Amino acid sequence: MTTSAHQPCVLVVNSGSSSIKYQLVSPVDGERIASGIVERIGEDASTVSHTSAAGTTTREGAIADHEAGLRTVLDLFAEVGPDLAAVDVVAVGHRVVQGGAEFGGPVLVDDDVVATIEALSPLAPLHNPANLAGITVARELLPDVPHVVVFDTAFFRDLPAEAATYAIDRGVAAEHQVRRYGAHGTSHQYVAQRVAEVVGRPVEELNTIVLHLGNGASVSAVRGGAAVDTSMGLTPLEGLVMGTRSGDIDPAVVFHLVRNAGMSVDDVDDLLNRRSGLKGLTGQNDLREVHRLVDEGDEDARTGLAVYVHRLKKYVGAYTAVLGRVDVIAFTAGVGENDDVVRAQALAGLEPLGVVVDAARNAGRKKEATVISADSSRTTVLVVPTNEELAIARQAMEVVGRGADEDDEAPAAVGHA
Ligand code: ADP
Repeated sequence: MTTSAHQPCVLVVNSGSSSIKYQLVSPVDGERIASGIVERIGEDASTVSHTSAAGTTTREGAIADHEAGLRTVLDLFAEVGPDLAAVDVVAVGHRVVQGGAEFGGPVLVDDDVVATIEALSPLAPLHNPANLAGITVARELLPDVPHVVVFDTAFFRDLPAEAATYAIDRGVAAEHQVRRYGAHGTSHQYVAQRVAEVVGRPVEELNTIVLHLGNGASVSAVRGGAAVDTSMGLTPLEGLVMGTRSGDIDPAVVFHLVRNAGMSVDDVDDLLNRRSGLKGLTGQNDLREVHRLVDEGDEDARTGLAVYVHRLKKYVGAYTAVLGRVDVIAFTAGVGENDDVVRAQALAGLEPLGVVVDAARNAGRKKEATVISADSSRTTVLVVPTNEELAIARQAMEVVGRGADEDDEAPAAVGHA
């Protein structure tokens, strides 16, 4: 389908330390008009892959920095389309991981916003500087379009104090901004709102547990559309077992390894963020590979999967207690949408809590929102594909005052950010 020239669209940019992912999205109907990724920025063998109606175009060769990367992307838009000058780009939407206590929603980028994101970098040293590099370059190369930042933490900025506060000396916590910030908030918020559309009830009436299970993974408890708890903490390291991250761990493990294993703080940081989780337990961070190993009889893989699922189940139980009544449990992201074994095992045995998964409905990968619970289940269990880029595009469009609702053709089911 070709987007008509008058239809507003948003260029969504997700800039990492060595990559830039982008999508040109129509916030009104959710159409992905073009998308692509610049990878291995700063290396000799950088690649750019750009997909549009014309197909996929790939470029290889050294890309020195983010500026060169984004220039290549803009060249590709000009050469193979769609021509950015011919479509109505109303905003560039940037993903930023850490918005601290400052940002509870999307904001228009100006120099003060840039300075605040920079000041928050100690809380997200791997992410915020990389996000900022993309913002700086994009503002230079696309100066005539408003730029909007959407924060991963914003949905969790107003968590209740009992969920946001760590039980440490409150003076130390205040001085060093130590609290639960959460992450994946754009996805949790999007899915919680989609859940309301799917079950046909107002979001204000629903208590929902959202399980965002990708390479990174997090759970949130959402009451009436507002987050009341989430598993990620000061950083995205806390909570569930992830592809390469440990999730919850006794902090004394860190002291033990530093004091007795000759590891530096950076070594332990690397261990817990990059060499733990499924990777550390099984040698593989991708669940498809873990299942393959389990099928081959690999004991470590069997234990690794069991640890992964056990942690998930504990959080479902904990958030059931936090919410009191759970109307919907929603699975999303790469694992949540595709892995029926994880979905079934995570909720197995919860029948006394009113959660009954239907094996036939659960079977297979889900490309669309799907009910996987039995009719007898008090809690509705759903798979709801996430779409962070669309959520960012819609928030960006609202910030620049071009709400999706303004378009008469907006289908009711997707008309709200
Ligand atoms: P992220 O955005 O965090 O990088 P995704 O949400 O794309 O991650 O999820 C990626 C993960 O999803 C993979 O590492 C893999 O474990 C899991 N995954 C993807 N497809 C499947 C599948 N068919 N079956 C099981 N797991 C899958």
